[in-house]
Amino acid sequence: MDALKQIKCFLLDMDGTFYLGDRIIEGSLSFIDTLRRTGRDFLFLTNNSSHNALFYVERLKKMGLSVGREKILTSGEATARILNRDYKGKRAYVLGNEFLLSEMREAGIPIDEDAPEIVVIGYDTTLDYKKMTRVCDLVRSGLPYIATHPDFNCPTETGFAPDIGAIIAFIEASAFRRPDLIVGKPHSGIVEAALERTGLTVPELAMVGDRLYTDIATGNKNGMLSVLVMSGETTREMLEKSEIRPSCVFGRLSDMNKYL
Ligand SMILES: [Mg+2]
Repeated sequence: MDALKQIKCFLLDMDGTFYLGDRIIEGSLSFIDTLRRTGRDFLFLTNNSSHNALFYVERLKKMGLSVGREKILTSGEATARILNRDYKGKRAYVLGNEFLLSEMREAGIPIDEDAPEIVVIGYDTTLDYKKMTRVCDLVRSGLPYIATHPDFNCPTETGFAPDIGAIIAFIEASAFRRPDLIVGKPHSGIVEAALERTGLTVPELAMVGDRLYTDIATGNKNGMLSVLVMSGETTREMLEKSEIRPSCVFGRLSDMNKYL
């Protein structure tokens, strides 16, 4: 628990960690208060690239937390950062919702549907057969191919909606290629973006979340303290069977308060 005291900024998953669907998890606000009171910071990290940071600002506001958009880092923003770093000025075909497209435009990425030099795919909930045919053609042609995150399913009120992992599998079945780079959790692209955003170093950050294979894997793979909260997807049984071991486990965010 001493390790928690050293942490200057907590990278927080949202669904299953801070809230559950439309409902805030009890104690989440007191955890944020504790961070603020003890001079610590936080940054929400989300793999979902079908919404932008402002969408989450509004969502958190409805739950009683007022934050600026700089407190939210989406896999879409992290992808834009990588494009600007490694593919500066390259024209991109972007498979995504209007949220992702506007995020890319704001970041200065030239969007070009007709003659792109790179393919970027996000969680596109407006997908249709025409778009899939086009994106498969572009990937097949050998252009650099980047995906915002790897999740196969997105939890919904009624179960699951197919997420970008399913789109990646569709493209692979047709074009025989996997992405050259995936940015979101558990990959390091989103962590690099978080380091840049916070100006901190890896030992000063902790990754907190409810999923072993995304949140906890992100912490472990990137050398950060990993904190599992049992307020979302992971059950005791899943934790016992998993090879992915969190640094520490709490019932929910506010259970950390007394150690900070
Ligand atoms: Mg979660």
